[in-house]
Amino acid sequence: MKIARLEILKVPPSWVWLKIHTDEGVTGLGEPYLEDHPESVIAEVRRLEPLLIGRDPRRIEALWKAMYEGGNGYRGGPVTMSAISGIDIALWDIAGKAAGLPIHRLLGGACRDRVRMYRATGGERPHCVAPGRPYRAGRDPNARPDEPEGWAECARVLVEEWGFRCLKVHFAPGEGLEVTARVDRFAERFAAVRAGAGPGVDVAVDIHNPHPRIARQLIEALAPHRPLFVEEPMPVERVEVLRQIAEGTSVPLAAGERWMGKWAFFDAVREGALAVLQPDIAHAGGITECRKIAAIGEAAYAKVAPHCPLSPIALAASLQLDACLPNFLVQEHNEVNDWREGGRTAIGKGYLREPFVLDEEAAPGCRRGRGSASSLTTTDCGRSWPTRGARSGASADRPDRRRSRRWAAVGAGRYTPAFACSRARASSPSSSSCHGPARPRPRRRARR
Ligand SMILES: [Mg+2]
Repeated sequence: MKIARLEILKVPPSWVWLKIHTDEGVTGLGEPYLEDHPESVIAEVRRLEPLLIGRDPRRIEALWKAMYEGGNGYRGGPVTMSAISGIDIALWDIAGKAAGLPIHRLLGGACRDRVRMYRATGGERPHCVAPGRPYRAGRDPNARPDEPEGWAECARVLVEEWGFRCLKVHFAPGEGLEVTARVDRFAERFAAVRAGAGPGVDVAVDIHNPHPRIARQLIEALAPHRPLFVEEPMPVERVEVLRQIAEGTSVPLAAGERWMGKWAFFDAVREGALAVLQPDIAHAGGITECRKIAAIGEAAYAKVAPHCPLSPIALAASLQLDACLPNFLVQEHNEVNDWREGGRTAIGKGYLREPFVLDEEAAPGCRRGRGSASSLTTTDCGRSWPTRGARSGASADRPDRRRSRRWAAVGAGRYTPAFACSRARASSPSSSSCHGPARPRPRRRARR
């Protein structure tokens, strides 16, 4: 089998997918994308393309190394690593299809049958946006004022109605010191979410890189409420400062969504700075590199909670990795993709033939029902970003953030990609030890 050509697919609202074609007709799908830099990553994929054409797509490790070292001595960086990540995911897709196995079977097999998901929560109730309709064009009419009661109510809805068993709160204190007056306000809202979520539900918090002193104050204020982890407690440049913060608290610290390659994670783990690693499979180096990052973390007793704010392709690849990680904690997803329908919460509607469906433990299945092919199978993808809602004169390399906030032109009917691995398969409880009190075991469903 040889790689024949690479096809770029521009998928609404602003995502980039890659379809790798082989001479034997097997194709693989990946997501080479970097927020605000989509055209740069597409150009990087085209630069790397000659290294791939004519090569066996199943020799993934060798191809990864060739791509990483194929820049005249310049290695890494977010654009190159995002391109490599998307290609790597597509290569694993091909490998799975060629072997007739889901990807996690090629990575050592599943440690769990379901993958626990978490969802962001704040002061507004979650709501669905129909495929093809503007995403969050207006304020949710059911939203409550930005008071603790509203935060508690949102958490309650996500747990009791949507079925999530893990939530994450976002606070954005900025990088200055003048935010000290708001520290107690943040803690009050976190406590409200904790109360609204109820017992047995984990709640994490992302504090988005504040000044290190503010981070210490925030962690002190949040610690009594037992956050699952505190994410990005300071700017990413100085790992030793992160270690100093970690030494001053028992709260687990998390970071890594913008770290590329195994080396940054190695440095952080060696310093004892992190309890939770958050590589993004679409940026850190794909399935190949994230597997290694997880192993580095495992040696330091760190857990893995993959970052994933992108399309269902990146999510599907993440789920395959999650399935086989002994130190997996919880998986993020992009709430643009989730949906309530018929009493169930589905993720990826409008993109996937079979959206991921949360089961009774808020965990989509990670095993593919038919067991005869890989988990990443897509057909009939859209090939252009939507034009409506785009600002005229906007930089060609910055279309995504503005558009994605305005439009979720998922285009049901026009864009009908499909994953084969999606339907929840409820069976044995997840093997993660951080799920809180055990819940009733769900009914076993027929294998698809
Ligand atoms: Mg984050």
